[in-house]
Amino acid sequence: MIKPDRDLIILGAGPAGLTAAQYGSRANLQVTVIEELSPGGQALFIDTLENYPGNIVKGTAAPKSGFELAQDMHRQAEDFGAAFITETAGSLKKEGELFRVTLGSGNTLTALAVIVATGAKHRKLGIPGEEEFAGRGVSYCASCDGPFFKGKKIFVIGGGDAACDEAQFLSRLSPAVAVLHRRDRFRAQKALAERVLSNPRIEVRFNTRLREIRGDQKVTALMLENTETGESYREAGDAVFIFAGTLPQTAAAPDVPKDENGYILTDQAMATSVPGLFAAGDVRSCPFRQVVVAAGEGAVAAHSAAEYIDRIKAVSG
Ligand code: NAP
Repeated sequence: MIKPDRDLIILGAGPAGLTAAQYGSRANLQVTVIEELSPGGQALFIDTLENYPGNIVKGTAAPKSGFELAQDMHRQAEDFGAAFITETAGSLKKEGELFRVTLGSGNTLTALAVIVATGAKHRKLGIPGEEEFAGRGVSYCASCDGPFFKGKKIFVIGGGDAACDEAQFLSRLSPAVAVLHRRDRFRAQKALAERVLSNPRIEVRFNTRLREIRGDQKVTALMLENTETGESYREAGDAVFIFAGTLPQTAAAPDVPKDENGYILTDQAMATSVPGLFAAGDVRSCPFRQVVVAAGEGAVAAHSAAEYIDRIKAVSG
């Protein structure tokens, strides 16, 4: 067998990729992580990680933010020996027993196993004004852009965990936050939804659709529709934070089976249908996307990859 450059390549450095890197390196594998942005993935945008085990304990130090947790996970993986490359993974091919990853620069890297942990990105609404006012009142990250709109009229779009979490955060910056959701009830976990519903600084408006974002230099108003009555109306405002779900980032692995929403299917060992190819975290088909779940899946994927690599090495001597 041709000698690979590394034992294991991990695509993506969110909580799944970082945990896989740590577990893989601790299992004595030569691990390289390829990430196009800063390590941390979607966790970078979480202000308070209140549901990560052990992160909030009354009477002890302040909880880590998603950014701080990601930094620590990155350092821990590096300390165990994982290498990090900041580049886009252009394509992934299997050639015999070897996987070849072609980077955006055109360089290639080979390994015996690959873990796809490329995560998911924000879904856009595709309505007029969304692109035009991006960065000028339209945002997908409350902790990044919320502070620009202190005391202003802020709208939050969506009814999932992200919308509820981020509305809570924004309500600390402004007493005029309105959550607009297209249906008559939240999709979010009950605890998050109830906190939003009982927050006096948040107005919740169900059965409301955002049709258009208007402004001049920046956002000044939204065109809204009451989905029960069909009535359309204009409402003045300064910012709109959109949390309409996520889209899996699977460009590097187009040929593996996916579920109906495009998320990669694996077995419980995180193995895809391609031997040696594993997936973990938000890119994987899973009903509950959480930092703790991604980290757990990363650990399982690294363990499974290590077993697979041992078997390949034993067979090929
Ligand atoms: P999500 O759970 O898929 O919710 C997306 C929300 O956006 C839904 O309420 C959906 O409405 C709405 N929506 C989708 N397309 C829309 C459109 N075109 N126009 C208007 N509204 C639209 O996504 P998420 O809230 O981003 O969460 C993603 C994953 O991360 C979930 O698994 C979630 O549990 C997890 N997460 C967890 C936490 C936490 O535990 N604290 C925080 C953030 C995210 P419908 O309800 O009508 O479909």
